[in-house]
Amino acid sequence: MASYLEQEIKYLKGVGPKRAELLARELGIFTFRDLLYHFPYKYIDRTKIYNIEEINTTQAYIQLKGHIVTFRTEGHPRKKRLIAVFTDGSKNINLVWFQAINWVLKSFQAEKEYIVFGKPAMFNGTLSIAHPEIEPAEKLNDELNPSFSPQYSTTEKLKNEYISSKTIQKLITTLLPVVYDKIDETLPDYLLAQQHLLPLKDALFNVHLPKNSAFLEKAIYRLKFEELFLIQMSILKQKFTRHQRFKGIMFSKVGDYLNNFYKLKLSFELTGAQKKVIKEIRRDMGSGKQMNRLLQGDVGSGKTLVALMAMLITLDNGYQACLMAPTEILANQHYQTLCRFLEGMDVKIGLLTGSTRKKERELLHGELRSGKLQILVGTHALLEETVEFASLGFVVIDEQHRFGVAQRARLWKKNETNLPHVLVMTATPIPRTLAMTLYGDLDVSVIDELPPGRKPIKTFHYFDSKRLPMFGFLRKQIEAGHQVYVVYPMIKESEKMDYKYLEDGYEAFARAFPPPEYVVTCVHGQMKNEEKDASMKLFAEGKSHILIATTVIEVGVDVPNANVMVIESAERFGLSQLHQLRGRVGRGAKQSYCLLMTSYKLSAEAKKRITTMVATNDGFEIAEADLKLRGPGDMEGTQQSGVPFDLKISNLARDGQLIQVARDLATEILSDDPELAEEKNFKLVALIGSMKKTTVDWSVIS
Ligand code: ADP
Ligand code: MG
Repeated sequence: MASYLEQEIKYLKGVGPKRAELLARELGIFTFRDLLYHFPYKYIDRTKIYNIEEINTTQAYIQLKGHIVTFRTEGHPRKKRLIAVFTDGSKNINLVWFQAINWVLKSFQAEKEYIVFGKPAMFNGTLSIAHPEIEPAEKLNDELNPSFSPQYSTTEKLKNEYISSKTIQKLITTLLPVVYDKIDETLPDYLLAQQHLLPLKDALFNVHLPKNSAFLEKAIYRLKFEELFLIQMSILKQKFTRHQRFKGIMFSKVGDYLNNFYKLKLSFELTGAQKKVIKEIRRDMGSGKQMNRLLQGDVGSGKTLVALMAMLITLDNGYQACLMAPTEILANQHYQTLCRFLEGMDVKIGLLTGSTRKKERELLHGELRSGKLQILVGTHALLEETVEFASLGFVVIDEQHRFGVAQRARLWKKNETNLPHVLVMTATPIPRTLAMTLYGDLDVSVIDELPPGRKPIKTFHYFDSKRLPMFGFLRKQIEAGHQVYVVYPMIKESEKMDYKYLEDGYEAFARAFPPPEYVVTCVHGQMKNEEKDASMKLFAEGKSHILIATTVIEVGVDVPNANVMVIESAERFGLSQLHQLRGRVGRGAKQSYCLLMTSYKLSAEAKKRITTMVATNDGFEIAEADLKLRGPGDMEGTQQSGVPFDLKISNLARDGQLIQVARDLATEILSDDPELAEEKNFKLVALIGSMKKTTVDWSVIS
């Protein structure tokens, strides 16, 4: 009886209209079900009783059993504190109260046995516990007083209204016996048996009131499993449906475009990883199903070349291709790279960005519609309605994280009859399990090998006081014929301030590297496009020695002669952004360097980021570290797209293994029963239906 759980929370004993309103506003708890699914964020082990002898201030929460010897008050009359000397026979400890002193004196008696619970700290040179929780010792084995004390998140507002973690625990303790028999099982029996899962009602009971640690573990496992399994089921179900409903374009042959390029134009061997990925792409394109592939590879691993070869397969089959980049600088650069690679071949390429002039634009539109233009490179401008293709067969999206899922779908629609194949390229490596969830509808290819001859970048951390030696180092590199990037942070809210910051930096560098010997140029978001381009061009042609920039150069910019990346205020960047920036150097065969400049004041997290950067060049390792440090919701590269699921109990960073289990199981079930038409899977249909609202429904797109 689902409706029972949908009852308004105000009808629960102990709630009432006023508290109901607070719970709804502060915690989003409207119904019995919402309260039932308001899980503890942690548990405190109340099974262990410490000896006071063993206690020190590094311990978190501890529990003692003993009695109060004496009470006394100390301090100024208006700032009184109450001190109770507590003993367990081994030693004494002080319990201290700064508030509610009279209440404490009335509630607790000397010589009676109590359980004391709290966090030890030094106070006036004595080991103490401030504002402990105290309960009569005989309550320790009480049924509704679990040995793992659940802690619930609340808010300041709730606390002011006397709704504490403890209050929520009490409400849930009231609720559980009332609803227990009305909790319907959501998973099919065969899954419960096969995966050794607790029934839902027992899982919900034990997650709030654990019988013991084994039950608590099982309860959490069951609830996490359901959450992650449901996500994978719904992602994969949509993928299956899409494959069934829409045909992909069959690229059955490889012809002159690819062959000539490969034989005549390609001056180096493909890496093993590139070959592997091209094979995967060819297989997808020839399968008759629409390809939706995520191509991950560190900066400089040769993704663009792979994309180009896939485009040539597209042309061989008589279709058009397009490549969409997140910024104009990048689109320009891709355009030039492609032109260079295809020089002398009979391929018509165009570039369309926000600054393409109207006349040029109209020309491009016409050639696209007639099919004369075979490859179009551009920015978001490609998404406009007026951009129509004669036969779009393949879409490449570079640096996915700048584009949302919806934009990907808009590109699909550019071919009305058949969905074009899609390749999403990203240099922000995403840990596998996170990719399975965020880009779960994409197949993943990885280029995990750099072209030969690259030397690993050496990364150093300097405090700002070491600027003079840093300048000296740069001079040496420039004398040796190399070029230098200097990047300043840019934070969205205060572009003006950062701009100023960059200006100051620019002046300092210009003073330290004066003309005519040195040329220092500058690129930032507030410059006009022509100025930006002119500045970039100077640097790309080697006419400028130092390029001072904001993060506009973060993605894709390719100047192989630049071998030093100086990152100013490196503590203000996230890990994956630092890694992206560093990837601008190390592109040629010479030794490259990354210098991370920071102030002395570093948070623990910033320190961890810097040491990670100094320790490794491996993008996947860095992504894992990033995920651990920041949690998936905040992970760079996923901010815009966001984690599309409301996770109540699982954690994408920590539950990787369970995600894999859930994924494999979902794949197996859907391969056997793609429509979920078998009776044993009926419950799964309902379960997926219940979460549809929150995700993008791919099957309705196009
Ligand atoms: P990504 O897009 O992954 O950052 P690019 O495709 O821009 O990498 O490649 C970086 C550089 O390496 C380019 O100059 C490219 O021409 C070159 N490159 C790509 N593949 C190879 C290879 N197999 N061997 C040598 N150089 C390569
Ligand atoms: Mg690139």
